[in-house]
Amino acid sequence: MLNKKSVDDINVKGKKVLVRCDFNVPLQDGKITDENRLVAALPTIKKLIADGGKVILCSHLGKPKGEAKPELSLAPVAVRMAELLGQPVKFAADATVVGENAKAAVEAMNDGDVVLLENTRYRAEETKNGEAFSKELASLCEVFVNDAFGTAHRAHCSNVGVTEYVDTAVVGYLMQKEIDFLGNAVNNPQRPFVAILGGSKVSSKISVIDNLLEKVDTLIIGGGMAFTFLAAKGYAIGDSLFEEDYVQYAKDMMAKAEAKGKKLLIPVDTKAADKFDNNANTKVVSDAEGLEAGWLGLDIGPKTAELYANAVKDAKTVVWNGPMGCFEMSNFADGTIAVAKAMAEIDATTIIGGGDSAAAANQLGFADKMTHISTGGGASLEFLEGKDLPGVVAANDK
Ligand code: AMP
Repeated sequence: MLNKKSVDDINVKGKKVLVRCDFNVPLQDGKITDENRLVAALPTIKKLIADGGKVILCSHLGKPKGEAKPELSLAPVAVRMAELLGQPVKFAADATVVGENAKAAVEAMNDGDVVLLENTRYRAEETKNGEAFSKELASLCEVFVNDAFGTAHRAHCSNVGVTEYVDTAVVGYLMQKEIDFLGNAVNNPQRPFVAILGGSKVSSKISVIDNLLEKVDTLIIGGGMAFTFLAAKGYAIGDSLFEEDYVQYAKDMMAKAEAKGKKLLIPVDTKAADKFDNNANTKVVSDAEGLEAGWLGLDIGPKTAELYANAVKDAKTVVWNGPMGCFEMSNFADGTIAVAKAMAEIDATTIIGGGDSAAAANQLGFADKMTHISTGGGASLEFLEGKDLPGVVAANDK
């Protein structure tokens, strides 16, 4: 059980509080095209303002790789955050992040004021968790708050290094929510616990399969990765996605599930296409019929969609990561829609790991029906792998 101190456990009145946010928003010609991450950061920031803290925000944006690239400046975020918060946000435009502007801006702060630092990745040491930059960041504050789940699986100066030089390091509301749902719900689930895994490759999710198979009652496999399992069972998969090196792994997992008395479901039918194109010719084939060369499976078939929806029906906890097919193409989205719909309809804790499945749930209109949609792709996968995330570990224990 992860039990970390949060912003509710500290008193920030009159204190300088450095908040690591995830302001890594998409920008086009200097305009923010999706402000979800800014909105998601508001509860923690508002709480700190209301409590009379001097709120110093920081984040990375894109990959400037240690260079002060103007197109990756956080300046537009300062403008928008000021509008969203309804109060000024002073932007400290230092190429070195903690430079003269930042120091002067922090020095001039009154309780409840907000300052935003420049893109932390303007500094090359940031992603190397270097000591000097960590100390510089820490020198600005008395309290550190980490609310950036998306980078929690990385040990960088602005989320891990800095905590070594600050006495009080806690998590924000966004981070707390991720810990509660992805960490604690997965490790201590209400049963039956069903996990649904999809996406392109077995190889990118081996540790997730391994870890979840220990914890779930049922593990459902879909997406491109299912074909390696189908091939392992001797079915013909045509030109579908296939990882020959993982056939033995797939066999081992199926044997492990059987030995542990867990259900591991793989597709019973497939929607196949004669090319990787939304307008391709299509057909539905059973496992036994299989696919000949020239055909590739791009979605689970309708019988599988029904089987998977039924498997979810009585669950009390469902975790989903990875689409069931190439949902970006409307003709191969049905399997993913069926799973999202089944999750939306049940009375259970429903959790979506970040990345593509979160995008699918949003795009298909099921987002508000889920208990929790993770904001972190890589970070949520590492949680599901059962790994400790450095950004979470670094916060003070309760
Ligand atoms: P991942 O990043 O591993 O979660 O994979 C997500 C991607 O897998 C999405 O872009 C899907 O289009 C793709 N995908 C899902 N099913 C298939 C499939 N049967 N064949 C090829 N790609 C797939």
